Amino acid sequence: MARSNVQRKPETIAPVSHTPPLLPADSDDSLLTQHLLRYLKSDDIAHVMEAYRYSAAAHEGQMRKSGEPYISHPVTVACILAELHLDPQALMAALLHDVMEDTGTTHANLSARFGKTVAELVDGVSKLDKIEFQTATHAQAENFRKMLLAMSQDVRVILIKLADRLHNMRTIEVMSPEKRVRIARETLDIYAPIANRLGLNRIYQELEDLSFEQVYPMRQRVLLRSVKAARGNRKEVVGKTLEAMREHLAKSGVVAEVSGREKHLYSIYKKMQERVGTFSQVFDIYGFRVIVPDTASCYAALGVLHALYKPIPGKIKDYIAMPKANGYQSLHTTLFGPFGTPIEVQIRSQDMHNIAEAGVASHWLYKTSDADLSILQQQTHQWLQRLLEIQSESSDSVEFLEHFKVDLFPDEVYVFTPKGKILPLPKGSTAVDFAYAVHTDIGNRCVAVKINHELAPLRSELHNGDHVEIVTAAHAKPNPVWLNYVVTGKARSHIRHCLKIMQSERRVGTSLSANTG
Ligand code: MN
Repeated sequence: MARSNVQRKPETIAPVSHTPPLLPADSDDSLLTQHLLRYLKSDDIAHVMEAYRYSAAAHEGQMRKSGEPYISHPVTVACILAELHLDPQALMAALLHDVMEDTGTTHANLSARFGKTVAELVDGVSKLDKIEFQTATHAQAENFRKMLLAMSQDVRVILIKLADRLHNMRTIEVMSPEKRVRIARETLDIYAPIANRLGLNRIYQELEDLSFEQVYPMRQRVLLRSVKAARGNRKEVVGKTLEAMREHLAKSGVVAEVSGREKHLYSIYKKMQERVGTFSQVFDIYGFRVIVPDTASCYAALGVLHALYKPIPGKIKDYIAMPKANGYQSLHTTLFGPFGTPIEVQIRSQDMHNIAEAGVASHWLYKTSDADLSILQQQTHQWLQRLLEIQSESSDSVEFLEHFKVDLFPDEVYVFTPKGKILPLPKGSTAVDFAYAVHTDIGNRCVAVKINHELAPLRSELHNGDHVEIVTAAHAKPNPVWLNYVVTGKARSHIRHCLKIMQSERRVGTSLSANTG
């Protein structure tokens, strides 16, 4: 397995993506039981194990490409979901998720034996399974739509599908090279963003790292080597900081668990791609996580850490008072650590941490009685509701995909050109950014803008779904003031370039004529 070359060191830095060892083929049921015993009541364990036996019998004699008995696959999928503490129905459906496709079992069989909900979940996953993503934009958009439909009926369908994909990615080595790249691409394009948007952090990161290895094997290897080398140099800073933070929190009477955390490989790669910086600029950001018993302790811990290291102004974010759309709550701050290195700290309660790890799956967490969860539920419901509304409004799949992207990629805004084309821009983009994104000449000659058919200032920030029309004049020139509000590199560099030319023209003009000035 290629994963085995990823050395993971458990000491101070906790790796973000965890790859459990592959199961020995003969221990499927005991492994499953171990997972279930951690949080389910005995009645429920019995139900889940009944689904296991049914599935094992149905898949009897079938093998995976790797040569293992087929049942090892649904069992791992169920275990991934059990790690999230999903409810028994979801686990049963996970165990049965391939029986309709691969064996003669019908919806009616499952419904009679395990109840309507489990049968419907299996049905939903089977339908998603049939979707082979294609390169054509249209097919992809259609698939997105189907996935959403499945999801809106019951998000557990998509959770099972994500766990299914995760296991398939972990065992992708047995596939042909072409198939590996195709599946990994699809995972990067579709499944990882969905996992991210649903707040399933660990699944999201592992999906990305596994896909990265397949899609860009060379870059992955080089980056992995650099990370390993750099990790050694970080040890001192990490160790010192951990020690100081633990000591000060304890002295102030704040009960806290402090750990170091590391960005996952693909996120370092993406940051570098976005030209946020070189490897060392991206990697040399130290991350720490502080977990405390309750909300009040979060603010207390923040106070203690701000007294220990100076906070960097403007970097404090209170996601407790204002949770993210997917329910995520934490305090974020960046401090000047020892040796002046910036360190990022996330502070959250244990409950918030569970939600951060399980994301939307927290809906189906087994026996929860937490008030925080109902807020999360409402928010997720609203999110799905909004997506559904968008879906019923748009008849065109491509358009729908673009709408869906709006929610999957919250750092971007999607606006329409006069011809109805959709243009993605970074969040905060203005009409001038839009003009340059359409064409350099349009940028250089723009004088006014109509947003949703009304004249607006060129500095106006654009919002999702805005209809943007740039008014140009043949002899117009860029205005230096634009540099104060454009956010895209393209706009900035073209404006600078144009201003330079204008300046040198002016200089030539002055030397030719004494009147100019
Ligand atoms: Mn499967």
